[in-house]
Amino acid sequence: MDDCVFCKIASKQIPCFSLYEDDDVIAFLDIAPATKKGGHTLVIPKKHYESITEVPDELLAKIMAVVKKITNAILKDADGVNVLQNNGKAAGQFVKHIHFHIVPRYNDDKIGITWECEKYDGGEIEKEHEKLKKLLEECLLKP
Ligand code: AMP
Ligand code: ZN
Repeated sequence: MDDCVFCKIASKQIPCFSLYEDDDVIAFLDIAPATKKGGHTLVIPKKHYESITEVPDELLAKIMAVVKKITNAILKDADGVNVLQNNGKAAGQFVKHIHFHIVPRYNDDKIGITWECEKYDGGEIEKEHEKLKKLLEECLLKP
């Protein structure tokens, strides 16, 4: 896509701090890391897809294999790692080219990737379970 910053990185029109590259996937440092200690890495397919639902399964498996490699490397230095992937504006996706965030975590860091835990009211978890099973069935029927 012409106006996509990650397509431009994939096609070398704009530079990045690349950590890994093959025919399908590239991993590079996020320019605005979640932690002062750096290391926050993005892993993307070179081809443009907006959301995880659009990426072919085989390519997704290749991307995840790279996510795993980078996570292994980061864990040599960090205390933990969050792997995050945002789909849609409501989920905090700003760059509309699918990307996996690999965020190094340290015991003393101030990154807040947590939420207040809610409780299901009586009968609500059963209803939600039925609703999602039905939606999933519909998705599984599609090729
Ligand atoms: P998201 O909110 O999930 O869409 O995250 C997009 C991420 O892309 C942000 O963490 C940005 O800091 C990062 N980003 C945007 N432009 C660049 C760039 N040119 N090089 C590296 N990272 C970038
Ligand atoms: Zn793109």
